Amino acid sequence: MQKKPMRVVVVGGDAAGMSAASQVKRRNKTAEVIVLEKTEDVSYGACSMPYNIGYDLDVEGLVVMSAKDFKEKRGIDVRLLNEVIGVDTDNNKVFVDNKATGRKYEVEYDYLVIATGARAVLPSINGVHNEGVFTLKTLDDARAIKSYIKEKKPKRCVLIGAGYINLEVADNFKRIGIEDITILKRSDRLMNEYEDEVDEKVREVLDKNGVKLVTGIDIKEIDGLTVKTNKGDFDADIINIGIGFKPNTEFLEGSKIKIDKDSTAVVVDRYFKTNIDNVYAAGDCALLYHRILDKNIYLPSGNNANKSGKTAGANIAGANEKFAGVVGTRAFDVFGLAIGKTGISLKESQEMGFDTFKTAITAPTKAHGYPIQDKITIIFITEKKTGRLIGAQSIGDESAALRIDVLATAIYANMTIKDIQGLDLVYSPPFAPVWDPILVCANQAIKKV
Ligand SMILES: Cc1cc2nc3c(=O)[nH]c(=O)nc-3n(C[C@H](O)[C@H](O)[C@H](O)COP(=O)(O)OP(=O)(O)OC[C@H]3O[C@@H](n4cnc5c(N)ncnc54)[C@H](O)[C@@H]3O)c2cc1C
Repeated sequence: MQKKPMRVVVVGGDAAGMSAASQVKRRNKTAEVIVLEKTEDVSYGACSMPYNIGYDLDVEGLVVMSAKDFKEKRGIDVRLLNEVIGVDTDNNKVFVDNKATGRKYEVEYDYLVIATGARAVLPSINGVHNEGVFTLKTLDDARAIKSYIKEKKPKRCVLIGAGYINLEVADNFKRIGIEDITILKRSDRLMNEYEDEVDEKVREVLDKNGVKLVTGIDIKEIDGLTVKTNKGDFDADIINIGIGFKPNTEFLEGSKIKIDKDSTAVVVDRYFKTNIDNVYAAGDCALLYHRILDKNIYLPSGNNANKSGKTAGANIAGANEKFAGVVGTRAFDVFGLAIGKTGISLKESQEMGFDTFKTAITAPTKAHGYPIQDKITIIFITEKKTGRLIGAQSIGDESAALRIDVLATAIYANMTIKDIQGLDLVYSPPFAPVWDPILVCANQAIKKV
């Protein structure tokens, strides 16, 4: 009798889900791979959405590969508008609601991948669903914002929350002529996970570009398009809420799959396997191993969604790939100012019991005499007893983002500031001075140990 092909069911069809599905198919051509996606979109570049709005590009250009192409070119059975509403791990099946037909059905699996990502958090106040109030998380959100802007031509915008997405939105809304922008922030600090030097420079660039920032805000409600707060009313023509992400794991309630209490993300090991042997989870709905903290944490990010999905898929297909872990590297741009972070901040390190110190320098990014001159601030967080770099931040011209990659590599490799001081980095007038800012910072840090 012919053996039945292995059936892998993937829940969620974006970065993590499609990476997992593709990896299974690549390694096991006979596997039957079914992707159940509740919306009509799969595999798109969510990270470029603010720029898509700001440069008024075609939203559909964000789609990396369509469901049709996944079917035809990779042999993956992608089922759009199919929401998974429950999982029975004892009997290896998922319960599906086909939103197009209203039919409810079950699908059995040999392996299951949960890749349901996260959604934008909404504050518990009245008015978050009013017309003109948005979040920017999905492709449909981008479509809705763009058509609203086209129709209503808003001039005043209130941004609730000052995470990187709302900062990118502020920049891109300005680009399309929304002149009056106010950011409302609950805490007094603007850049919670960053050092004071970064906080200060981001405030400066917002101010220089006419973006108002009001901190220490407690929002009471949104009335129409007026945000009512402890510091007065803020009138807008458009509002975007960007206060964080929450894993989409509610549909697992009642199943035996273990959920982390604090983050509500799925608990996985370094192979992206859950507590159930044939169930994996990846991307923004799952935890990730952090190399410095030596534990799993919740850190939603696009690169890690792709990586974790790929690793889960490879392991289902028989590989034995252990995830190396993250160090928390990220970068973004606001009004031409690049900001990078890797590892942990001084405050985070001290809260976690590390004995650390901070070194911050500002240095040129081009050689002396080169016609264009720019500067960057580099910050090191060093562990006192070992001299190991455990955090770094950068802010300045676009090289800030690329230099943070060097420091992410150093942290990944457990390098000390002495090791970093010895790095053979580029010297070339358009790219770096004879003493690269990273080396300048290492030289300063070493004086403190
Ligand atoms: C504006 C913006 C900018 C960003 N910029 C960056 C950046 O610069 N760098 C970076 O690293 N990251 C960035 N990110 C984050 C990055 O986009 C996400 O980390 C990534 O998309 C996560 O991929 P995922 O597949 O895990 O989850 P998601 O992209 O959330 O996809 C999950 C999918 O599962 C589907 N789904 C959910 N529940 C069910 C269900 N019950 N049944 C069926 N389907 C379901 C959803 O519809 C969705 O399609 C950005 C995000 C946004 C919104």
